[in-house]
Parts: sequence; structure tokens; C-alpha cells
Amino acid sequence: MSKDYYDILGVPKGATADDVKKAFRRLAHEHHPDKGGDQQKFKDINEAYQVLGDAEKRATYDRFGSAAFEQGGMGTGGFGGFGGFQQGGFNINMDDMGDLGDILGGMFGFGGGRGARHSRGQDIHVDVTLEFQEAVFGATKTVKLYKHDACTECGGSGAAKGSGAVPCKDCGGNGSVTKTQRTMFGNVQIQQTCSECHGRGKVPETLCATCKGLGIERRHKEISIAIPAGISEGETIRVAGEGEHPGRGANPGDLFLRIHVRPHRTFTREGSDIHSVVQAPYSMVALGGSIAVATVDGDVDLKIPAGAQSGTVFTLRGKGVPFLRSRGRGDHFVTIQTRVDTKMSREQRELLEKLRNAGL
Ligand SMILES: [Zn+2]
Ligand SMILES: [Zn+2]
Repeated sequence: MSKDYYDILGVPKGATADDVKKAFRRLAHEHHPDKGGDQQKFKDINEAYQVLGDAEKRATYDRFGSAAFEQGGMGTGGFGGFGGFQQGGFNINMDDMGDLGDILGGMFGFGGGRGARHSRGQDIHVDVTLEFQEAVFGATKTVKLYKHDACTECGGSGAAKGSGAVPCKDCGGNGSVTKTQRTMFGNVQIQQTCSECHGRGKVPETLCATCKGLGIERRHKEISIAIPAGISEGETIRVAGEGEHPGRGANPGDLFLRIHVRPHRTFTREGSDIHSVVQAPYSMVALGGSIAVATVDGDVDLKIPAGAQSGTVFTLRGKGVPFLRSRGRGDHFVTIQTRVDTKMSREQRELLEKLRNAGL
């Protein structure tokens, strides 16, 4: 029976190769059996893409229809080079697949996606604790790591000084290896980046003696990181390329710093604003006056108008935390509380008694 591959992928006959690929990826995600999709539909989508995703096969299909690709179908014998299709199998290039490679790999029990991603090292996650002021104004922090890093002797190339390069034996210089896997859909040929040369097709002629050609060594490394002003608890800073180095020809992972901020004795932070409570003598709250208020910039004189009530909040504009992603700063809000001293001089006591007797 003839199948309409264009119909299966939902693209017009004149669709570009890119559109075909996009449609395939979308549909394969949508109909993946692991996500409750229909297995037959998933298989059809794959089959359609194996043909429409390949310019040569697509041209053949446009002339002869899907029969040219089906088992025992007419014309099969006439088309050399479609061996895989005659057996009802298909090819998958894991490197082309991106995250879909993971899905297919997991499905076929092949781990193809993981293989393709072998060329990037693990990320490292580190917790960094800052003092309150450091988070407000920024700081430089040093992180001590013990990790795989590029070999200091060969700079990560794995080659001895003056050594040339020779074709990789594992992949014959192709940079990729093809493996055949039996699956419920028949034989699947899976193409993966060569783990020996990481896709470069070449390896050093003479290996570096220090790292034995691996291009990496495990060592202590101190990394200084500028933490920007205004950072908050729970935010993450990414330092590209400072993760684990997997070896010659591959790329290191990233380093992630998870930020924690120690609480302050008098300030509390709410986004870019700072809050604090200041105790003012009863007489100042009643009569007005000036009081020194601590801010992250140092003490500031706060004028209290006569008759201010306990609990009144004053705003110190621009005395808060610098904005992380733009210019400017938040505000500092000061809540005034009336302070009643219990230790007082004889004179103070007499004055207070007069106030009490006057009904204040
Ligand atoms: Zn080395
Ligand atoms: Zn290789």
C-alpha cells in the first residue's frame, strides 16, 4: 500500500528540507510512545522522515512513491543502495537529533543521545555564601576546585611537543562510527560521534607523557569570580567552561555558583529595598528632631517631623540595593519606634513626672 509521506509529516510537496526536519521533530516529540503517543503513528513518522529527510530518497519517492521503499515492494531490487530499507529498517543520525536523540536512544536502549553528548564535560555546582554587604555592592570570590582540567603540559591537545596528527583508527578518520541495533522497528543504524577522536577524525601521533594523551589532568584550581552588585539569595552565576573537562578534543562543562546571602543584624532585604527599624526617644517623636540612621552607605541624618507617630515609615531614596540588571538603586525604609528609657537621671524623672501630671 502506498503511503503519503508528505501527508504523514503534514508538509506540502514543495516543503524545504528545513521544514521537513522541523515537522519531523515536532511530530516525533508529540507522538512519542513514552509520552503516550501511538506507536504505529510514531513509526510512520520515522519512516516518512527517513525518506523525505534525504534529498536523494525524496527524489526517488516523488517519482515512484513509497512502494520503492517497502519490503518486497515493486522496484526494490532496482534501487541499489537502499539496503537498510529493504530490511524494513532505517538509519538514525544521533548527532542530527539533538534532544530527540535522547528519546530515541532511550527507546531503543541504545543511549545514543548520551553518546553524542559525550564530547561535553559535566557541570560543577558550588554554593557560595556572601555577607549582606557583599551581595549589595558586589564582591570578588575565589572558588577552590579539584577537577579535571586541560593538561598543563600539552594544553589539552594530548599530543607530545612537536607531534603531528594521524587519522583516527577507531573511525577510520571519519569522525563518526555507525552501529547497528536490533529494535522493534527492525535494524536501526545509529551514527555516533567517535569517542576516540571526538569527531575530529585525527589523533596525535605521539601522546603527551604527562596526561598519556588524554589531554586532561585532575588538579586543584582556584577561580576568581566577580559577583555583581545587587545579587540575591538563590541566584545562580554561570562561569562558562570551568566545569569538568572530559578530555582531548572535547569541551569542558560549566561552573555554576549558587548564591546565598547571610542575614544582617539590622537590615532586612526585600528585592532591591532595605528595611530597618530605628528606636527614637519619645520626646523626639513628639517634638521632632534629627536622628542618625544606619544605612549600607553609613549613617544618615533622618529628620523626624513634630508629631510623628510610632510606626511611621520614612523613605531614604536610593539608599537601597543597586539593581542587578539596570542602573539605579532601591530605597531604604526606616520604621520609627518610640523608645522609652527605663534608666534616667533624677532630673529626667522629674521632667517626665511633670509631663505625666500634665496629661501627656
Ligand atoms: Zn598532556
Ligand atoms: Zn575517531
